[in-house]
Amino acid sequence: MTVYLNGQFLPLEEARIPVLDRGFIFGDGVYEVIPVYSKRAFRLHEHLVRLQHSLDGVRIDNPHSVGEWAALINTLISHHQHEDQYVYLHITRGVAKRDHAFPQPAVAPTVFMMSNPLTHPAAELLQSGVSAITAVDNRWLRCDIKSISLLPNVLLRQQAVDAGCAEVILVRVENNDSDSFITEGSASNIFLVRDGILLAPPKDNLMLPGITYDVILELAAAAGIPCSVRRILKQELYSADEILLTSSTREVMPITMLDGKPVGNGRPGPLFRQLHDRYQHFKREVMRKP
Ligand code: PMP
Repeated sequence: MTVYLNGQFLPLEEARIPVLDRGFIFGDGVYEVIPVYSKRAFRLHEHLVRLQHSLDGVRIDNPHSVGEWAALINTLISHHQHEDQYVYLHITRGVAKRDHAFPQPAVAPTVFMMSNPLTHPAAELLQSGVSAITAVDNRWLRCDIKSISLLPNVLLRQQAVDAGCAEVILVRVENNDSDSFITEGSASNIFLVRDGILLAPPKDNLMLPGITYDVILELAAAAGIPCSVRRILKQELYSADEILLTSSTREVMPITMLDGKPVGNGRPGPLFRQLHDRYQHFKREVMRKP
């Protein structure tokens, strides 16, 4: 497998970083995951805008222009035979003597990219839906930054796996439990459907502004589905007609069991089906454009 590291395309086995890389020592870096369909990066511009937001948030200078990123990403894609892939792109503050404060003078950031085959959600899971649990969102207050420091997400996702579930829906706990609200999944955004209205949490510092989240809201608006972007209370989860998760690699999936109880009638609902079909159609249309 060919990967990219600091200006070079090389086999994965030959890619090496020094142990003093601040990504290794502190998790001091940011990343992106970009889906690729028919060898074309999907929503590349939006992913690069979010990358810039993450870099600004952690005060790392962007090592490349948008044009340079696009060229590097396209070259990486061309090294792989699969039509559908996902590019993982990772930037750290670089290599320096271990000290929490930024290195002075600044050092060159480390840039790493790899691409893997994109496997689409299994048809059975789209038919049956997946199970999820809720858990306390114990992450920091800058979840809008796509930080490589993913330990809380790792532990939360493992909690879901230990419970035999595909995802964990994160809840920010308020003093009064009836005010507790949901933010997102450990690696996805979450939508609810109640009374025919698609509900989405607002993009703020407590969640990652998902690229798929935006696509889903655009598709819903185009389809005339009523949408409301507002804080979603934890208690609303349990009376939702449908719950959906979205991400670049899982696209849109129905959550049909939550905390061991069925969501709605326990089957994927009509808004899921509509949005899933529209997403597939939209993807194909975008990829057909020259
Ligand atoms: N939230 C978190 C915490 C994530 O890790 C992801 C996956 N990148 C998402 C939301 C969904 O974002 P996107 O649609 O851009 O993949």
